[in-house]
Amino acid sequence: MKKHNFSSGPAILPQSVFEEASNACVDFAGMGLSILEISHRSPEYVAVYEEAISLIIELLQIPDDYEVLFLTGGASSQFFMSAMNLLEKNETAGYVDTGSWSAKAIKEAQNFGHINMLASSKEKNYTYIPKGYTIPSNLKYLHLTSNNTIFGTQYKEWPDTSVPIVCDMSSDIFSQELDIQRFGLIYAGAQKNLGPAGVTLVIIRKDILGKVERVIPTMLDYKTHIAKKSAFNTPPVFPIYVCMLTLRWLKAQGGIGVIKTKNAAKAKLLYDEIDRNSCFQGTTDKGDRSTMNATFVSTNADYDQAFLDLCNSTNISGVKGHRSVGGFRASMYNAMDIGSVEALVAVMKEFEDKL
Ligand SMILES: *Cc1c(COP(=O)(O)O)cnc(C)c1O
Repeated sequence: MKKHNFSSGPAILPQSVFEEASNACVDFAGMGLSILEISHRSPEYVAVYEEAISLIIELLQIPDDYEVLFLTGGASSQFFMSAMNLLEKNETAGYVDTGSWSAKAIKEAQNFGHINMLASSKEKNYTYIPKGYTIPSNLKYLHLTSNNTIFGTQYKEWPDTSVPIVCDMSSDIFSQELDIQRFGLIYAGAQKNLGPAGVTLVIIRKDILGKVERVIPTMLDYKTHIAKKSAFNTPPVFPIYVCMLTLRWLKAQGGIGVIKTKNAAKAKLLYDEIDRNSCFQGTTDKGDRSTMNATFVSTNADYDQAFLDLCNSTNISGVKGHRSVGGFRASMYNAMDIGSVEALVAVMKEFEDKL
């Protein structure tokens, strides 16, 4: 029986996408070949790539002065690649530390220029999004993590600044509309809300490139991938194909406005139960709660294993919290139906009733 998958990533994708992708592994587009064995120079693959890019541009309303790339190396490679391409040795970038992923981004960027850590919520175990800090106007860019997958916080408003924002959107890309013009660069590992692991989406405003003196290895230079349409080397054909199918699905759902409303309804349902149920409590400031990853703990350590056992026996998968927060984390990405959240809420109620 198919489980309700609350895993934080790799994560749920639409069931129809799994089915279509598995058919393509046997025979893709009537070619008599598997998608896994076709050339990345074939017209069939090029059509997949072009459809994926145009769906991204359409769904996120990306202006003409931006490029959309599919790269490899995960969001983790973007931690250094963004700084290497954008930040000169004697220049300063601003970073906001909202969790383990931003801390990793800061560590990598430090090798390429000065880092001004403008704010951090570390002293409260990353339970909130810092606000009201000063953003110097001479920063090369401001790096943010839009959604903190591990800690369950999410920006509801972008800081007011003219400095270009570089943003790690790995775990909430395509969950809500974006004013792309506010961003110089957006990156996202696919495996949270877009597709399978193995490919990373990068959206970049062209005019921020080409301004550093250092030698950038060919594979790590965004300009290489722009010139070669993300196929300088062999791209991950299958992950890009699955992303394209997921984007088609998203468009058929009605696009990002519709999915945002659904995501808000799912999050409200779960957070209302976390707040109501005497066995659980949320771990983050209410105003900063993520619509994608809800983190919560039990009110009695004895409940922890018992609740996970109950989840296990009721087909609910992936709710164990990250070790740095403990307790539970329920990830509710785009592809999750509200029925799965209803199932989790019912199990939370059952747990409370049984005590
Ligand atoms: C998962 C995640 C990452 C790491 O992505 P990889 O593709 O595994 O490198 C980085 N940032 C955020 C916000 C994430 O959720």
